[in-house]
Amino acid sequence: MTADCIFCKIHRGELPATVVNRADGLLAIEDINPRADVHLLVVPERHIDTFRDVGELDEGEAKAMLDFVADTAKKVGLDEYRLMIFCGAGAGQTVFHLHWHLLGGRFHGMPA
Ligand code: AMP
Ligand code: ZN
Repeated sequence: MTADCIFCKIHRGELPATVVNRADGLLAIEDINPRADVHLLVVPERHIDTFRDVGELDEGEAKAMLDFVADTAKKVGLDEYRLMIFCGAGAGQTVFHLHWHLLGGRFHGMPA
């Protein structure tokens, strides 16, 4: 847990978020600045700065995270969608707590 991290705060209930799916140690929330008709963020509770550190998850956690991404898409009725992870500031990452972008419907584009 990191005191100032937005996504840790959301997991702790200290910041509001629209939660669309929840499982043990995992949340799916609506992105505050949607860049597609459906723009969700899948956020593990465990604070990992970037995807680079994904090896810190054990096999069970990693599998649960992937299953949760697929389950979230299904739950919101998406059969076709995009998944994105920005790894590092130079690649567009702005919140340094691992998260997946789940994008469905019309895509509005990402910043360069
Ligand atoms: P990234 O650029 O991959 O780090 O994505 C961070 C995403 O978090 C951006 O798409 C933001 O719009 C989104 N975001 C930032 N703050 C919040 C928040 N409080 N609730 C929901 N989404 C947020
Ligand atoms: Zn965090």
